[in-house]
Amino acid sequence: MTLKGQGTGPLPPLLEQYVELRDAYPDYLLLFQVGDFYETFGEDAERFSRALNLTLTHKTAKDFVTPMAGVPVRSVDVHLERLLKQGFRVAVADQMELAEESDKLVQREVTQLLTPGTVMRENLLRPEANYLAALSTGDGYGLALLDISTGEFRGTVLYGKSALYDELFRFRPAEVLLAPELYRNAEFLQEFQRRFPVMMSEEGFEGEVGKAALEAQFTPLPADLEHPALMRSAGAVLTYALRVQENGLPQVRSFVRHDPSAFMQLSEATLRTLEVYEPSSVGDRSEERTLMGVLGLTRTAPGRRLLRAWLRHPLVEEAPLQARLDAVEALVRDGVLRTEVRKVLHRMHDLERLAARLLAGRATARDLSALQRSLSLLPELAGLLRGFGPLRVLSERLPSLAEVTEGIAAALVQDPPLKITDGGLIREGFDPELDALRHRAEEGRSWIAQLEADERAKTRIPNLKVGYNAVFGYYLEVTRPHYALVPKDWRALQTLKDRMRFSTPELKEQERKILQAETEAVKREYAVFLELREQVAQAADEVRQAAQVLAELDVYAALAEAAVEYGYSRPRFSRDGTLQIVAGRHPVVERSSPFIPNDLSMSPAARLLILTGPNMAGKSTYLRQTALIALLAQVGSFVPAELATLPLFDRIYTRIGASDDIAGGRSTFMVEMDELAGILQGATPKSLVLLDEIGRGTSTYDGLALAWAACEYLHDQVRAYTLFATHYFELTALPLRMPAARNAHVAAKEEAGGLVFYHQVLPGPASQSYGLEVARLAGLPQAVLQRARSVLESLEASQKGLSKEILEELLRLDLARTSPLEALLFLRRLQDQLRGLAPLELGADRVSQP
Ligand code: ADP
Repeated sequence: MTLKGQGTGPLPPLLEQYVELRDAYPDYLLLFQVGDFYETFGEDAERFSRALNLTLTHKTAKDFVTPMAGVPVRSVDVHLERLLKQGFRVAVADQMELAEESDKLVQREVTQLLTPGTVMRENLLRPEANYLAALSTGDGYGLALLDISTGEFRGTVLYGKSALYDELFRFRPAEVLLAPELYRNAEFLQEFQRRFPVMMSEEGFEGEVGKAALEAQFTPLPADLEHPALMRSAGAVLTYALRVQENGLPQVRSFVRHDPSAFMQLSEATLRTLEVYEPSSVGDRSEERTLMGVLGLTRTAPGRRLLRAWLRHPLVEEAPLQARLDAVEALVRDGVLRTEVRKVLHRMHDLERLAARLLAGRATARDLSALQRSLSLLPELAGLLRGFGPLRVLSERLPSLAEVTEGIAAALVQDPPLKITDGGLIREGFDPELDALRHRAEEGRSWIAQLEADERAKTRIPNLKVGYNAVFGYYLEVTRPHYALVPKDWRALQTLKDRMRFSTPELKEQERKILQAETEAVKREYAVFLELREQVAQAADEVRQAAQVLAELDVYAALAEAAVEYGYSRPRFSRDGTLQIVAGRHPVVERSSPFIPNDLSMSPAARLLILTGPNMAGKSTYLRQTALIALLAQVGSFVPAELATLPLFDRIYTRIGASDDIAGGRSTFMVEMDELAGILQGATPKSLVLLDEIGRGTSTYDGLALAWAACEYLHDQVRAYTLFATHYFELTALPLRMPAARNAHVAAKEEAGGLVFYHQVLPGPASQSYGLEVARLAGLPQAVLQRARSVLESLEASQKGLSKEILEELLRLDLARTSPLEALLFLRRLQDQLRGLAPLELGADRVSQP
């Protein structure tokens, strides 16, 4: 119970109250209402001002000074949104009474708890899925994921940390709860905190507490939960979410255990290097230059969420892929249909979240009205789809929901107000009781309207007026010249300079009648609304189903739109392992600059491609475009190529570009080797492996040796489809001894003016290294270039490594056909040459083995 600050004696009462509330919510940042502001003090003020870039001031009370930072109450939402995005948990303490005297301490209470993974309020939610995750151990990692904004609740069991990270990266939870055993593991925690906002929640992970929460939520417990770690995590997620959402989570109706191996395995590194969701270059956060940015032509929020989900979970079975492709193709072929469908979808609200709000009892009249407008489009949509083979299935899965639509339309006014407690929601003629109340109020009002004329006639006061104000209610107003005509039984209410206001018992009585009828009408409206909401909520599951069908349709239409807009073609899947891409392009790069298409042909008999060429030639782009084409094909999308036939891959691995993991304390080389190890261990003959510049982070010879060995291993043992881009020309010798390896290069030509890049991939190895040329293009000073050239020459002259001839002799050597003596002599010769050569330690080992 301390507060950072300076001073003597006890804290002033206001700060004491602050500290008390703050300490009651130790993991939260407390926003403390003081009049028109939410304030923070002490250390929290420092954190708060840093997080939001606010000026830090100081609060001086009596003889105590403490840092202070605050934001206006009316604009708090923007700030809350930013805090949640940064992973803060926020508790909001409001004043529960008006401040009367300045020195009296008003009562304050925490009225809202907000955490990144449990927000429900529309204006604080990002449009993407918003997962709260929990993780515990015990026979693997149990991972549970809950999105309370839609009610989606799922989980899986993962073995091994890298599988865990990959899975988490695919779902990108807004908040992760770690079980105590993981939270207390400093190394694990640190690794985690670099990736996600991490919280600890002791309570839910205690088996009994979590289980009780699950049992209260589901009867019977879903069979999918039958795994100790999974059950613990699911229990923890639910307990934690319930603590924040005090009214329960009725929108969470089922738990699904998913099997990661039912999908193509995409690692965290692969999603990053392929820039599926985010550009990898630091500083550029725009989504435009990502796959999602290019393909994201969806028209609805659920559609967008589904597309994101599909991109991280490509399929590995052909039948469902062909079904998706059929749907896309139908929409590609019929432009009118596509346009119509997308037009209708554009008018749809976020049905998925509306359904969740309905179930949670949080839907407003505006929500119902939005629901009604959206649902009323369903018949039109179903009609559009009915005629189209592959889409008919969708139309059949689309519930009609006509009753709900009509029910809402009959009950609610056209544009209901935001607040549901002030009336003005329900249509005339819907509820007889409400109509009677309204009628009574109306009668009173017309009696009063008539009063003016009646009293003028009776009293002969010509300018007598009936008016209304908030303080006195209805009154009769008489100007000074006519005071004498005022009847005796009128009661004076108010005297102004030149006029007086009066009331009469009858007028008071009518006023009371109106007021009472109006109050009752508002109450009745609220009751009618609640009943309506309840009724509509009965159909929430169907609304959800409609939302899912529409999301799917939206994705098909978006993929079709992209296919037509960018000229994609329908991919084919080969059973014999043929990979044939004609005129393939990079879907993102081609959007921003003219692009030169390239072909690729591989098969189980030609599965390792050594790609050489100068820097900047386009090697890395070629690798990425190949991966993206494979990924898109297995999402069910058309692909950027004239023709693409591909095997179904089980994984795509990429090791492209070096990035230092400085925060993790690992060097570029370490990261590289880590990733390489993962690939060599995990890849199968059905995997696509892309390697770019392996061994760059270490000395040339080390690097070459590693690259060489990795290639051999991939070719001989793993047998994966491998594209290997390298600047080690020595590796172009590999295809000489490996039957399934091929050389290719990206063409460039030296011309008078320097190096010309053609970005064209051709068979065979590149002819020379262009490093110095690229350096020249980049504008390195002449002196440096000249010196580099002479160093290069002397290096080449003095190079003591194996000459090309000897290397080739070695590679061609076929021990089976060589006599033992010949072989021995050759090995001797070779060993002599190798001795003292760091570069070919690998070679020396191999030689000494026989
Ligand atoms: P490398 O890996 O060989 O160093 P990159 O793949 O990084 O080269 O490509 C270098 C530059 O050339 C990039 O700016 C890229 O956009 C462009 N580029 C690559 N391939 C093509 C292509 N096929 N058509 C047009 N531009 C390309």
